Amino acid sequence: MKRQGIAVLGSTGSIGLSTLDVLRRHYDRYRVVALTAFSQVERLFEQIRAFRPEVAVMVEPTAASRLADRVRQAGLPTEVRSGAAALSEVASHEAVEQVMAAIVGAAGLLPTLAAAEAGKRILLANKEALVMSGSLLLEAVQRSGARLLPIDSEHNAIFQCLPEHFEQGLEQVGVDQILLTGSGGPFRTLPLEALEHVTPAQACAHPNWSMGRKISVDSATMMNKGLELIEACLLFRTTPDRVRIVVHPQSLIHSMVQYVDGSVLAQLGQPDMRTPIAHALAWPERMTAGVEPLDFWQVGNLDFEAPDPERFPALRLAEAAARQGGTAPTILNAANEVAVEAFLEMRIPFTRIAELVEAVMNHVEPVDASDLETILYADRQAREAARDRLAQEDTKPS
Ligand code: NAD
Ligand code: MG
Repeated sequence: MKRQGIAVLGSTGSIGLSTLDVLRRHYDRYRVVALTAFSQVERLFEQIRAFRPEVAVMVEPTAASRLADRVRQAGLPTEVRSGAAALSEVASHEAVEQVMAAIVGAAGLLPTLAAAEAGKRILLANKEALVMSGSLLLEAVQRSGARLLPIDSEHNAIFQCLPEHFEQGLEQVGVDQILLTGSGGPFRTLPLEALEHVTPAQACAHPNWSMGRKISVDSATMMNKGLELIEACLLFRTTPDRVRIVVHPQSLIHSMVQYVDGSVLAQLGQPDMRTPIAHALAWPERMTAGVEPLDFWQVGNLDFEAPDPERFPALRLAEAAARQGGTAPTILNAANEVAVEAFLEMRIPFTRIAELVEAVMNHVEPVDASDLETILYADRQAREAARDRLAQEDTKPS
C-alpha cells in the first residue's frame, strides 16, 4: 500500500502531539511530509529527527535559523522554511494528501484555505479558521473537491452519528436536533463571586482534557462551546435552533444526534483526542489510536444539565453571532482571541473576557462575509477595537 503524505500544521501543540502519536503507530500507512510550528525550536527539532519530513516550517525567523542550524548539524535531509506564507505552501504541497489543521486561532485560516483550494483532505481542529471565515472555507472545499473532516471531538462525534448524506440537509435525513455536549469547564460549580478572581493557571486546569492554553480558557468561559455552536451550524448546514448545548461534566459522551422518531445516537469514548484524530485519518476505515477502551463497570454515572446563562455569558454572545451571520462570528472570534490573551497575561480579570467581546460586538458593525478581504478587515477592526478598550483600561488610575 502506498503511504499517504501528511502535513501537520501546528505539530508542536497539543493536537499536533496527539496526531504524531497516532501517526507513529501507523508508519505503514502514513508518511509525514511537513511539520510546522511557531517558535519552539527544540520540540520541532526532535519531531524532525523522529519523522524526517521533507519540509519543516518555523514561522518565527530567528527560531527558524536556529532550527536550520540544528538540522544541518545533525545531517538531516529536512528543508527548513520560515514565515507565514510557507505554511500555505506546505498545506498545498503536491506530496501531501491529508492536512491536519491544528494551528490555534486566526493564524490558521490562510493555510487551511490553501489546503482547501488545493483539494486536500483537511482534518480540522482549528475551529477559529472556520468560525471566522464561515461559508468561505466550505465553498473552497466544495469547489476543489477537497474533504473536510472534523477533529473537534464534538463535531467528530456528530459526524459519526449522522447518516452519510447529511449534506442534503438535516431535515431531509430525519434529524431533529444536534445535542452538543460540553463539560462546563473548571468553574462550573465555583461560587459566582469567585469567578472575578480566578487565575490563568486555574482556568487552564481542565477537569477532563489536557489542551493548549487558549482553548482551555475558552472552555472555562464556555466560549469554546459557543465557537463550537457556530462550527456545528456551518459543518452540518443548520441553524442554532437545531443545536442544543447540554452540559455533561464527565466528557464521555462527545455529542449526540436526536432523530425525529425519538432515537438518540451518541458517540462515547475516553476524553482523548487521539480517537477523533485516528477516526478522521483512517475514515472511512478504522484503525487503532492507542486509546484505552471505555470500561462501563468503572464509568458509574453520566450526568447532564442545562448551561447556566449567568455564569457563561459567552454562550449568549456566540449564539447571537451565529444568528447574525456575516462577519459577526469573525468579530466575536477576533475579540475573544485578544481578550483571552489579555487574561493569560493577567491584564484583565476572567469575567472581563466576555464583557470585552460584547463591547466589541456592539461597536463593530457586521457586514456580509462575501470575500476574504472583507473577513480579514473585520478581523482587524475587531482586534483594534478590543486593544483600544484594553489600552484605556490600562491607563485608568486604579
Ligand atoms: P496549542 O497552543 O497547544 O498549539 C498550537 C500550535 O499552533 C503550536 O504548534 C504552535 O506552534 C502553533 N502556532 C501558534 N501560533 C501560531 C502562528 N501565529 N502561526 C503558526 N503557527 C502557530 O493548541 P491546541 O490545543 O493544540 O489547539 C490547536 C487547535 O485545535 C485550536 O484551534 C483548538 O481550538 C483546536 N482544538 C484543540 C483541542 C485540544 O484538545 N487541544 C480539542 C479540540 C480542538
Ligand atoms: Mg471540542
